[in-house]
Amino acid sequence: MIKRGKKGIPFYQFENLESYGEIVHGIFTRNGGISPPPFHTLNVSFLCGDQRENVLRNRNLILGVVEMEKMVSGSQAHGNRALVVRGLDDRDNEIEGFDALITNTPGIALLVKQADCQSILMHDPKCKVIANIHCGWRGNTHNVIKSTIALMKREFGCQSSNLLACIGPSLGPCCSEFLNPSNDFPKAFGEYKVSPYHFDFWRITIDQLKDEGLKEDNIEVARVCTHCNSYEFFSYRREKITGRFGTIIGLK
Ligand SMILES: [Zn+2]
Repeated sequence: MIKRGKKGIPFYQFENLESYGEIVHGIFTRNGGISPPPFHTLNVSFLCGDQRENVLRNRNLILGVVEMEKMVSGSQAHGNRALVVRGLDDRDNEIEGFDALITNTPGIALLVKQADCQSILMHDPKCKVIANIHCGWRGNTHNVIKSTIALMKREFGCQSSNLLACIGPSLGPCCSEFLNPSNDFPKAFGEYKVSPYHFDFWRITIDQLKDEGLKEDNIEVARVCTHCNSYEFFSYRREKITGRFGTIIGLK
């Protein structure tokens, strides 16, 4: 990731995506917004206890940085449902029941809200289709990656070999402690153990992407742990009552 800043708001970009002029993207931090503690400051979630007006102002700050007209998010249910976004009216800034959003419509920024879960940004430069996937450990368990890529193929004719994927800041193997892994995870996750109670979810996501046919060279991982860097990113595990930072992608 490369650190950038605009209008006093810091954000990061992926090296694999920055050369594609048809898209905008950004991994925003918790800094540069207006929300008070414990949501300080650039919280983009309506659902964590922050005032709705603050969240709308923060989302508009981000739209100003990326110069997009509209932003849409899913309510993020830790499931595997993906939605194709075709257009928006003003009420639609959050759509109930979805973890992944896909679009080929210019001007709409797809937002994923995070505090330890992964955002996976996807771009098909050939078909000009983008996606943003919210994926925590339940998302890996239900394989939201597979259902999202299947929908990209079905609706837009995307091919796996063209797809780029970028895994953002999220809980690293250093801090992914699960005390009851045999209850929570499928057996296959056993090979991703880095200690008796720690798992490498970055590697699980890489392998789930490769299982869908993505090339390893087309996958970039930020390798930044939100729990270890909570001055810059919200971490639910560290703070419990806290905000959500935003990762966005849009077609110009
Ligand atoms: Zn960590």
